[in-house]
Amino acid sequence: MLTPVVDEDGAPFWAYTAKGELRIQACADCGELRFPPRPCCPHCQSFGSEWRRMSGKGRIWSYVLPHPPLLPAYQEMAPYNAIVVELADAPRIRLVGNLVSEAGAALNSVDPSRIRIGARVQVVFAEQPGGVVLPQWVLERP
Ligand SMILES: [Zn+2]
Repeated sequence: MLTPVVDEDGAPFWAYTAKGELRIQACADCGELRFPPRPCCPHCQSFGSEWRRMSGKGRIWSYVLPHPPLLPAYQEMAPYNAIVVELADAPRIRLVGNLVSEAGAALNSVDPSRIRIGARVQVVFAEQPGGVVLPQWVLERP
C-alpha cells in the first residue's frame, strides 16, 4: 500500500495526526487557512504560520470508486472508495481520503451504494505500516 511521503512543509500535519488531531495550516498574519501545507500564504505572502485544530467533521464533497487496472495491493480491494471531504470548519479546505466502517478498516469496508455526496462524516485515525497515522473518515450516521 502507498503511504504518504512526509516532507518538511507537511511534517506538522502528520505530527498532529499521530496525536489524533486534525489540524490545518493557517497564516499567522491574515488568518487564512491553506491546504496542502506550504511555506508562504497565497493571500498576503506572509511566511508566518500556525496550525489550527479542526473539529474533524465534514461532508463528502465528491468520491470515486476505483476499478482495475490498479496497483496490485489495491486490485483485490476494488471497488473501494476515495472520497473528497469538505471540512465543516473550513468549507474551502478539502481533503482526499477513504470512507471506512471504523478506524483502520479495509478501504472496501463500506458498501459503495451507501456513499452519498453531502453525507456527514467524522475523521478517525489509523496507523499505517511505517508509522504514519492517516486520517480516514466514517459516516456520522452509519
Ligand atoms: Zn496571510
